[in-house]
Parts: sequence; C-alpha cells; structure tokens
Amino acid sequence: MSRVYNFSAGPAALPLEVLEQIKNDIFDWQGTGMSVMEVSHRGKEFVELAARAEANLRKLLGVPGDYSVLFPQGGATLQMAMTPMNLSAPGETADYVVTGSWGKKAAGEAAIFCNANIVADASDKNFTYIPDESTWKRSENAAYLHYTPNETIAGVEFHFVPGGDVPLVADMSSTILSRPIDVSRFGVIYAGAQKNIGPAGITLVIVRNELLGRARADNPHLLTWKSYADSDSMTNTPPTFAWYVADLVLQWLLNQGGVEAMGKVNLRKASKLYAAIDNSSFYSNPVAKDCRSWMNVPFVLADAGLDARFLQESKAAGLTNLKGHRSVGGMRASIYNAVSEEAVDALIAFMAEFERTNG
Ligand SMILES: *Cc1c(COP(=O)(O)O)cnc(C)c1O
Repeated sequence: MSRVYNFSAGPAALPLEVLEQIKNDIFDWQGTGMSVMEVSHRGKEFVELAARAEANLRKLLGVPGDYSVLFPQGGATLQMAMTPMNLSAPGETADYVVTGSWGKKAAGEAAIFCNANIVADASDKNFTYIPDESTWKRSENAAYLHYTPNETIAGVEFHFVPGGDVPLVADMSSTILSRPIDVSRFGVIYAGAQKNIGPAGITLVIVRNELLGRARADNPHLLTWKSYADSDSMTNTPPTFAWYVADLVLQWLLNQGGVEAMGKVNLRKASKLYAAIDNSSFYSNPVAKDCRSWMNVPFVLADAGLDARFLQESKAAGLTNLKGHRSVGGMRASIYNAVSEEAVDALIAFMAEFERTNG
C-alpha cells in the first residue's frame, strides 16, 4: 500500500484509521453478514449508527438541546437554496456577506427566492480580506445574515463571529470541526461533508428549533428542514454509506481528543506553513494576516513559470492535489483535520528544497 500526502480541497483526505475500519467492515458489518450499504436504514443497526453520529456530533461541537442536527443530501450548495426557502418569505430581505466565491454563490441562490442584499463584498481585492464589520451595510429587517466563515478557494477565514440580532447562517463546509465553536451564536450552520466530516453525499445542518417554523408552505418536503428534524433525517432513504463513514470520522475525532485537540494541531499546522511562506521571497500568500485560513493555504511562486515543475515534482515526492483554484492560480494546500502534521512538515521540507534548487 502506498498512501500519498493529499492536500485536496475536497473531496479531501480521510483518516487512515477510518479507511482501515471500512475495509474491515465491508463484507460483514456488525455481524449482520451484509455490508452497511446493503442493510435497511430502518433496521436496528443503522438506526443506532444514526443516533450515535448525532450524539457524537453534539458532543464534539457542544450543540445545545434546542438545536436540531440534520443530515440531508445535496451538499452545501443545496443549503444555499434551502436557507432562503426555510427562513424567508417571498420579497423579504436577507443579508449576505460576500468574502469569496462560495458566499457569492450563496447570495446568487438566495436572489432566486428573496431579496438578497449584499452587505459587504470583498471582490474588489480579489477576496483577500474581510471588510471591517463596521462598514457592512446591513438592512433594517433582514430575515437572517449569511456568511462564509472559511472561504475555501481564496483561503480567507473569519476569526470572529459577526454580531447583530438576526439569525446568523454560516456555511462552515471547510472549517467545521476544525476547532471549538459556540453553536449558540448561530441560527443555522451547514456544511458539505467532503472536507472535514466524511465522503461527499451527506450534508450537516444544525438549526435552532425556533427557526423551523419559518419554512415556506409550498416547499417540497425534501427541501424543508423541519421534515428532516421530524424524521431523524430519514425523510427518504438517506445516503447510508456516507453516513456510516461520517460516523467513523466523528468517532475518530473523539479519539483524537475532540475539536479542542484538533484546534491546537490545526493552528500549529497552519502557523508553520504560513511562516515558511512568509519567511521566503520565493513563495507568497496574498491574504491579509488577520483573516488567513487554518484549513486552506493558497500560495504563489514568485515565478509562475515554475508552477508546472512544482506540481510535477511535488507529486513525484508523494504530495498531491496542490494545484490552486483556477481563479487564484498558483498552489493551494488544504490541511483539514485528516491531513497530519507530518504531511505539513513534508510539504514545508519539499518547498524549501524546491526553492533551493530553483530559486
Ligand atoms: C466545498 C464548498 C461548498 C460546496 O459544497 P458542495 O457540497 O459541493 O455543494 C460550498 N461552500 C464551501 C465553503 C465549500 O468549501
């Protein structure tokens, strides 16, 4: 077996222990004589799995009792539409903070359903900063405020939680479970699984129960959060395999010491990678220092003519998926929970050696 250091932005690396468990379970899951993909989602074993995943997620993030934890399909992108469908009436205004491509996309989806008001937009500097909160042009009666705590493409992360009285909706796809958060500050948190939770195909939504009554009456059931809350996310056949892997990842996280321990490792990983970039004149990161992402670290080479060689040699050295998003160029190292500190150390060593031989 030969495993690489995988810096993919998503679907992203999974813990090796989880993959080994999947391998062990594949023909005979929990003595059923079947794989987890072949059992009923209403059977005892799977219902137990679902309950355990929810309990562990609640434990990891300290989710208060008046919040529901939902596991729909459709990824974060579907939640960009479900948010206005479940929180706003037609013609009502919702506020959007746009600090990157995902926030922009969310505002675009919302505009189909309500009046999406852009309160701040960082595209003027190619999404390399967070506009000061005091400059946000918030509306009087917004149904909610939506923002993207970590913008995966440009590597811009909020290191504060916005204030205000309206429900706060956060797309945490690429930062969830990377450190402790105070869930009670949020009305809704949503995240696609394929960065820090498990495989693509399942989505996490955490919603304050009092908000479940705001859904539009003409929403289909599958696009209504309350349907999931009322059915333990078994409104229809759920993505059982993805849910099973997510459950293993949540157990793995608890074994690592939970999000507090992960936060310490993640801060260390990010700090040493940014330090390596900042201490070199060969590499640079364009993001303002107060909002650099712990999870996605974009960097460019002083000579873009060396990009292809960097990618080729890094891949040969066992470091994969470092190519930056086409809108940013250069490189991006995504260093989610399952990317070990050892992997980050290997990347830093490779970068230094590449600079030595090409700088
Ligand atoms: C990856 C990502 C998305 C898209 O998620 P899907 O599950 O593919 O819909 C949305 N928002 C953020 C912040 C992301 O990182």
